[in-house]
Amino acid sequence: MDRLGVYIHIPFCARKCPYCDFYSTRYNKETVSLYVDSLIRNFRAFSLENGKKKIVSVYFGGGTPILLSPSQFDLLLSSLSECFSFSEDIEITTEANPSMSDKNKFSEYRKTGLNRISFGVQSFNETELRSLQRTHTAEGAIRAIENAYSAGFDNISADIMLGIPHQTKESLSSTLETAGDLPLSHISAYMLKIEEETPFNSDEIIKTLPDDDTTAELYLHTIETLEKKGFLQYEISNFAKKGRQSRHNLLYWESADYIGFGAAAHSCYLGSRFAVPSDIASFTQNSIQGKIITDENPCDFSEYAMLRLRLTEGLSLKDAEKRFSFDKETILHRAEKFRKAGLVNVSDDVISLTKNGFLVSNGIISDLVL
Ligand code: SF4
Repeated sequence: MDRLGVYIHIPFCARKCPYCDFYSTRYNKETVSLYVDSLIRNFRAFSLENGKKKIVSVYFGGGTPILLSPSQFDLLLSSLSECFSFSEDIEITTEANPSMSDKNKFSEYRKTGLNRISFGVQSFNETELRSLQRTHTAEGAIRAIENAYSAGFDNISADIMLGIPHQTKESLSSTLETAGDLPLSHISAYMLKIEEETPFNSDEIIKTLPDDDTTAELYLHTIETLEKKGFLQYEISNFAKKGRQSRHNLLYWESADYIGFGAAAHSCYLGSRFAVPSDIASFTQNSIQGKIITDENPCDFSEYAMLRLRLTEGLSLKDAEKRFSFDKETILHRAEKFRKAGLVNVSDDVISLTKNGFLVSNGIISDLVL
């Protein structure tokens, strides 16, 4: 039986953050209720042809999926399990905003089958949280993580942001130390990216961002600090305690199949990539969600290699040769100059990026495999 990941997009937020360009709209109870019904309708339609797939991971992303009530999660997960077979050790994650920190509510969420929670913490520094216009405080985020843990979530991730306006090595250190002392099993440390169509794309904000050298220093400092705290880097931006890598994200990086439900959800399934239109009204009004093909040949060698090189494990040319035909000697030859510069390791036909290599990963990866 084939394994499959399921992504469910919940495009509702209490309010829009000024740096975010994900598809989401303001929470509205009636619309959310219609949206949940539409998700269930789509699970059923999809399972008629594909019900034999074994689901190894379900991921609720957004938006702010924790705005759904425990009974809505219960309904979604029980409908999904009626339509598909769940693997025994299935990972079921929801993203969460740390402004919700009620322990009893976390217990209710845990009872629905959710077993992993990923908090959008971003920082434990109050000034940085205010500059991002987040609705939670540092103290609230600590309380949310501790309460989720005592309510039975033993697999908790936190997103930390690098390159926040006015961020320094000292302020980041303090955030990382706090994170390392909390009951977290996973940390994603992302660079703030200024997206074109967002209020953050303004001279006023851009002039407050750390410069390139400081940002590089922040990244290397993050890797070093988190390793000391027991979080090992396994991907450019992701760190985990032993055995706690995000199974869902690994499906993406290992080019496995996943199917997305909901407006703006993406899928990679049976050899093509496609997306649902970013339109809640059409999602709730149509009996079956729309499909826009975004890539008809997603699993060629270049894409496989690009995804593998994001992982610290790297790209095994021997494994790749079992699936693709490509010129191995050319790739090893191209890797040599990066090896001499300390940006990649090459050992037994496995190419992997070093910590300094991850800083300039886009350039190296495209030079090696495109
Ligand atoms: S809560 Fe998350 S998804 Fe919603 S606007 Fe903020 S960053 Fe974007």
